[in-house]
Amino acid sequence: MTSVNSTMPWFGMDIGGTLSKLVYFEPKDMMQGESESEIEILKSIRKYLTKNSSYGKTGHRDTHLQMDNVVLRGIVGTLHFIRFPTSKMKNFLVLANQKGMAKLVTTVCATGGGAYKFEEDFKREVNMKLAKYDEFESLLKGLLYIDKNNPTECYYWSNPTDGTKCSKVQYDFSSPYPFLLVNIGSGVSILSVNSATECKRVSGTSLGGGTFLGLCCLLTGCNSFEEAIGLAAEGDHTHVDKLVKDIYGGDYAKFGLPGDLVASSFGQMNSRDRRSKVSRQDLARATLVTITNNIGSIARMCAIQQKVERVVFIGNFLRVNPIAMKLLAYAMEYWSNASMKALFLEHEGYFGAVGCLLQYHG
Ligand code: ADP
Repeated sequence: MTSVNSTMPWFGMDIGGTLSKLVYFEPKDMMQGESESEIEILKSIRKYLTKNSSYGKTGHRDTHLQMDNVVLRGIVGTLHFIRFPTSKMKNFLVLANQKGMAKLVTTVCATGGGAYKFEEDFKREVNMKLAKYDEFESLLKGLLYIDKNNPTECYYWSNPTDGTKCSKVQYDFSSPYPFLLVNIGSGVSILSVNSATECKRVSGTSLGGGTFLGLCCLLTGCNSFEEAIGLAAEGDHTHVDKLVKDIYGGDYAKFGLPGDLVASSFGQMNSRDRRSKVSRQDLARATLVTITNNIGSIARMCAIQQKVERVVFIGNFLRVNPIAMKLLAYAMEYWSNASMKALFLEHEGYFGAVGCLLQYHG
């Protein structure tokens, strides 16, 4: 049995603009060399985290993403994936205190802007030190580690526009370079990745997942991401957008633009009559299509500029969001004459948190 030092951080955290992602590594064997009282606290933390799938009012464990029998720093264990809104950080710290973590966990590996913003709060409220790591390096390290440990991590959508034929297909990501990594969080960052250690941020846009959610709440009165996605699934964006055929009466054949293409996002909404006829569902769908297509278009230009064929989309905007994934898959393939491929990863929003945990050398 390997001795597990409790001062070793078993938590990796990515504290983002909207969501905090917490990855907990649960060693398979119980700790050795700790005092009786330490072992009791460790056991109770472990029990609390692994027996529940929700924590307080807003914390969730994504049980479907759990990874068993992975090796971290030579120790076998399970990775658990937990998220909560960054706006509820105070509640998280109170809970961490109540569960005795403050007594035992001395260091948490952290990345994301919140690792800086909340550093003082962690020290003051729970006496924890944040070992901070670069966001993009963590993202890449976490992604490569998870992909190596999960044979079904990477996939693409085949026939993305055909409701009956569309399906998820596994993709072998073992020789991925070069590729473009498009991280769709609150905002969007686009990285060009040439090797396991070489990546640079080539572009980004502030029109990201946060924009989708913010606009959707404004336009439909919805109150959560899940609700926004639910509405979008029922809506029709062509009631909101102005299409090529609304302008040309059909295709714009000379430039190869199909009639169903959006010519102007929200372009019908200047008409009072049209406005009176759209539903909340239509508005949610149009917001989703607008934001997603804009990201797809920027990603495609970056892929051309960087001369890469594989474009990997990650980030929690893609959570429970097959509409956006299929739109991206279609857009990348269609506009590149099938020379580019949109790829997706199952642990979409958790790579940063995993990556910073991997980098710890305490
Ligand atoms: P960040 O690190 O900027 O918080 P994430 O990758 O966690 O970025 O993605 C945040 C985005 O994910 C939100 O802007 C929203 O579009 C989407 N999202 C998915 N699930 C949720 C949720 N439960 N609550 C809020 N936003 C969510």
